[in-house]
Amino acid sequence: MLRRVLVANRGEIAARILRACREMNIETVAVFSEADRGFLFTTLATHAVCIGGPAPRDSYLNQDAILTVAQHYDCDAIHPGFGFLSENAAFAQRVRDLGIIFVGPSPEVIARLGDKSAARELMRAQGVSVVPGSEGCVSTVEEARACAEAIGYPVLLKATAGGGGRGMRRVFEPQELQAAFDAAQAEAFTCFGDKSLYLEKLILNPRHVEVQILADSHGSIVHLGDRDCSLQRNHQKLLEEAPAPSLSDATRKRMAADALRAAQAVGYENAGTVEFVVTGSGAVGSAARNAEDGFEQEAEDCAFYFIEMNTRIQVEHPITEMVTGINIVREQLRIAAGLPLSFQQEDAAIKGHAIECRINAEDPRQDFRPCPGTIDYLHLPSGFGIRVDTVIHPQYQITPYYDSMIAKIIVHGRNRNEAICRMRRALEETLVAGVSTTIPLHYMLMYDPDFISNHIDTGFIERKLPTLLRPLSEGAML
Ligand code: ADP
Ligand code: ADP
Ligand code: MG
Repeated sequence: MLRRVLVANRGEIAARILRACREMNIETVAVFSEADRGFLFTTLATHAVCIGGPAPRDSYLNQDAILTVAQHYDCDAIHPGFGFLSENAAFAQRVRDLGIIFVGPSPEVIARLGDKSAARELMRAQGVSVVPGSEGCVSTVEEARACAEAIGYPVLLKATAGGGGRGMRRVFEPQELQAAFDAAQAEAFTCFGDKSLYLEKLILNPRHVEVQILADSHGSIVHLGDRDCSLQRNHQKLLEEAPAPSLSDATRKRMAADALRAAQAVGYENAGTVEFVVTGSGAVGSAARNAEDGFEQEAEDCAFYFIEMNTRIQVEHPITEMVTGINIVREQLRIAAGLPLSFQQEDAAIKGHAIECRINAEDPRQDFRPCPGTIDYLHLPSGFGIRVDTVIHPQYQITPYYDSMIAKIIVHGRNRNEAICRMRRALEETLVAGVSTTIPLHYMLMYDPDFISNHIDTGFIERKLPTLLRPLSEGAML
């Protein structure tokens, strides 16, 4: 087993990893920025080291500082969490070159899948359906125009190095293309230092469904079922549920098989997520029937298309843990240590339904503008079937330097209805005073008839936001 792991991240995901290590008797080193001094995640570690200033480039993206600490403390592995350096192939290579284990796939695999346009080609070669689009990148607006005309509008311009919903622009008419191309290219360069773009058909009102996989170094590869992450704002997820409530058994099986094939084709190792957009009966208009036992699935099939593979632990992994009982971070650490998975595919049965609400310090009434500040008063929910992943506490200071997600509330129930009722209860118990959060929006969602009847898609939040927020602006209590 691993002896000492450096956690190259912050906040709730750092705490999540440190807790797993502690249960496995693995020593830990937390690295933190000056803005995070004294925070809970640093106190959960065996050792904690300040590595630089608040700006990510000075601390959580500061490769030299992180590697120096890892060497000084004689760490045998580095867990990158998500965001920051987690999908940085060059960093994974530097870690490897120092004889340290990177908890994730190899640098080669990260690089192959991190190029989203190349990943599409790779999947296509494996017989996995990809969204119709450009073969490789579109380097000029003329190339993009020719491609858009061939596949038909509307289209989506996407950064090939993209992530976190950045560097994407929708184009409905040919005359919008030039401006969208310039904007996407500029954003791609600012965010990723790479302005390459590719183009996909814009699928209207799809669902986002993804498959969690785990692969060890002994040739064992399993999937842990699927998650529906259709409730998004600005192409970023807000609420996720597992299993995806709209898939027929046949579609679910095909999607899992495609995900496994995709991962196998690249010699994948560790945890990963294969993301798809789903159209047809799985998206808008699907008539989920409210049966006594929750929601029955549609019998019809629907179409799904690969969009990308994330080569890291995902924000929403806890919902999969809740319905499978499998500790994904623990498996990641086992795999990194060269051990086999602790279970087999047959043991990964899906039980019940789980929902995660991302609690972000942002104001949904102002286009989800981040709201840094101090938490004056805090009460977090607890009780049967509830899990809260967070490091916040009363008087916690939310700084403007990092992602605005401050907590994840996760519930598990015997079926979707029970999970919804439990999430209502959890959100009613939650009090975060001093900053605006997404809590009221999540609460309204839990009472929304379309959400309850499973009529959701990736455009849902954008379309329904005014309706969802109306009772709040009218001064209703929460
Ligand atoms: P997930 O599918 O795991 O929810 P997200 O796209 O929401 O993934 O990203 C996970 C986290 O990592 C978010 O906090 C997001 O802001 C951050 N993130 C994702 N990609 C990048 C990137 N390329 N650069 C910086 N941060 C990123
Ligand atoms: P990122 O790397 O930023 O996560 P993705 O390729 O996963 O980028 O896309 C982010 C989100 O954008 C998806 O979850 C989906 O909602 C939407 N999206 C991506 N590609 C398409 C497409 N071709 N048509 C419609 N929506 C899309
Ligand atoms: Mg994605």
